[in-house]
Amino acid sequence: MKALHIGIAGAGLAGRTLAWRLLRAGCRVSLFDSRPRAALDTASMTAAAMLSPLAELAVSDEVVFALGQRSMQLWPRWIAELAEGGGDPVYFRQQGTLVVAHSPDQASLEHFTRLLRHKLPEACRAQVHTLDAAALAQQEPALAGRFGGGLFLDSEGQLANDQWMAALATEIDRLGVGWHEGQAVERVEQGRIVCASESYAVDLAVDARGVGSKAQWPRDNSLRGVRGEVLRVECHGVTLLRPVRLMHPRYALYVAPRPDHQFVVGATELESEDTGPVTLRSTLELGSALHSLHPAFGEARVLRLSAALRPALDDNRPAVVQRDGVWHINGLYRHGYLCAPAVVNKLAHQLLETVSEEAT
Ligand SMILES: Cc1cc2nc3c(=O)[nH]c(=O)nc-3n(C[C@H](O)[C@H](O)[C@H](O)COP(=O)(O)OP(=O)(O)OC[C@H]3O[C@@H](n4cnc5c(N)ncnc54)[C@H](O)[C@@H]3O)c2cc1C
Repeated sequence: MKALHIGIAGAGLAGRTLAWRLLRAGCRVSLFDSRPRAALDTASMTAAAMLSPLAELAVSDEVVFALGQRSMQLWPRWIAELAEGGGDPVYFRQQGTLVVAHSPDQASLEHFTRLLRHKLPEACRAQVHTLDAAALAQQEPALAGRFGGGLFLDSEGQLANDQWMAALATEIDRLGVGWHEGQAVERVEQGRIVCASESYAVDLAVDARGVGSKAQWPRDNSLRGVRGEVLRVECHGVTLLRPVRLMHPRYALYVAPRPDHQFVVGATELESEDTGPVTLRSTLELGSALHSLHPAFGEARVLRLSAALRPALDDNRPAVVQRDGVWHINGLYRHGYLCAPAVVNKLAHQLLETVSEEAT
């Protein structure tokens, strides 16, 4: 039987991960992106890739929480499956998150704790632990003596998004993806991916262009870009075992450790579709949050400052919808890595079911 041919517009986290799942299921996949595969200015390459269903519940809802919980089960399996292809391993840790605040900002931490306990389903409340200064020092020795206590959210994790995106690229190449790199898609239509110079016929068409889908998003004006900025540094003077969130009355920032003594510090969140370089103000906020966590970060080397747009919908939830014969996956907002496995799985199953229904 002829393999089902699926065309995907957008090779970010959503499109690239979907391409991989469909290739594994035996489909033929054509993937289109206006940027080269290693371009750094997308949300997927800019993200800190913290996998924080609990901490994010303070700013999200039960739908995102459930998708995050489901994805936390899938991530280790998917990372192991990706490694079977023989590519480079992907850094993934699941050692919880710490949440701390400096003494003048204790009210922010207390509010965060109450909000979390209020929104968390009863069955999950045991995953939140209040630590005194000694327990905090035991969990994260680098922070000993620096904070009076904090919160420990167990089972949360993080991964290296650049490694995930690079490993996926290698694997989908190996599985025979038709990758149209540097090719902008003008429109996605039923059974057709339309580029400026050529139009490509496919059996099923998927739009995964993030904010790039704005003109074609099925519900008017409800897709927006939310600007986020991060700072990446290298620092040999501090070792963190897990991501640390720093509560502050004006902004909540985090520091996520990465391989090779690197740290990602993020993220600003601005209701703006400005794609320009990181501002001085954001650089100062991110840098001073990092320095206030531990003075040894003063000697950190700045490797990169990046900004990108998170694709978000009015309800800030991820969405998989079909309209006029085109499938859309979008609205991953600040929870793309947190929710991707569950959301991509849902779409992959729906695409494969559509075909088996049509065949019967
Ligand atoms: C600063 C920051 C920090 C973040 N931190 C986290 C975090 O800690 N945890 C978490 O879970 N999530 C985080 N996120 C969110 C996460 O990165 C996004 O939700 C996710 O990457 C969105 O993936 P996407 O594939 O939908 O979109 P994108 O990454 O935007 O990918 C869309 C792709 O479509 C392509 N494209 C666009 N227009 C066209 C066109 N016309 N033709 C062809 N191709 C096109 C683009 O080149 C791009 O490759 C963060 C995001 C940012 C910006």
